[in-house]
Amino acid sequence: MRKILLVEDEPSIADNIIYALKTEGFAPTWCQTAADGLRAFAEHAFALVILDVGLPDMNGFELCKKMRAGSFVPIIFVTARKDEIDRVVGLEIGADDYVVKPFAPRELTARVKAILRRTEAGGAMQPQTSKLFSIDEERCEIRYCGSPLQLSRYEFRLLKVLVQKPGRVYSRDQLMELAWEEPDTALDRTVDAHIKTLRAKLRAVRDDEDPIRTHRGLGYSLKD
Ligand code: CA
Repeated sequence: MRKILLVEDEPSIADNIIYALKTEGFAPTWCQTAADGLRAFAEHAFALVILDVGLPDMNGFELCKKMRAGSFVPIIFVTARKDEIDRVVGLEIGADDYVVKPFAPRELTARVKAILRRTEAGGAMQPQTSKLFSIDEERCEIRYCGSPLQLSRYEFRLLKVLVQKPGRVYSRDQLMELAWEEPDTALDRTVDAHIKTLRAKLRAVRDDEDPIRTHRGLGYSLKD
């Protein structure tokens, strides 16, 4: 049974969603606060996450960013405000989908099923990593062609984002959102500077390869 994490502080809404998810054969885990949600997220592997935007201890967008920093789990937002939709689905937050309150629980489960069909068909459930790299989460280490890289914290986080989705082009803003703890204080050229030092470290291992590609006016990707 696929596990789904639901973070929603209103019990009556959560009850309806849980009931609908169970009816469709999913195994929901319900958390009422962002803190509990993060704890559950760290402890279990979820096929998908449903987040309420208005949570008591943290904005759902912030929670989404934290979850996305190290994972490509599909995320659906539940929002009470139509004016939040642009942020939810735009590049800023990058959710997979959303529903606006009030909604029929069946509408939500239909979206859950559609997203899982899409991501599972595309293999996104198990983030596909590049053949040249391997990530050791426990040691915060990335190996390149078998050699462990000596990386700074941000180099590690930046490279991890790229390695987890080879071929996907990320803008500098997206990389900052995903790799920096305080993206607002970082500058575009900070990303460029880290990419430059990363490239030098990769070249030191293999000088016949340049696995990081620059897309002019767009950003960076990892060669797939
Ligand atoms: Ca709420």
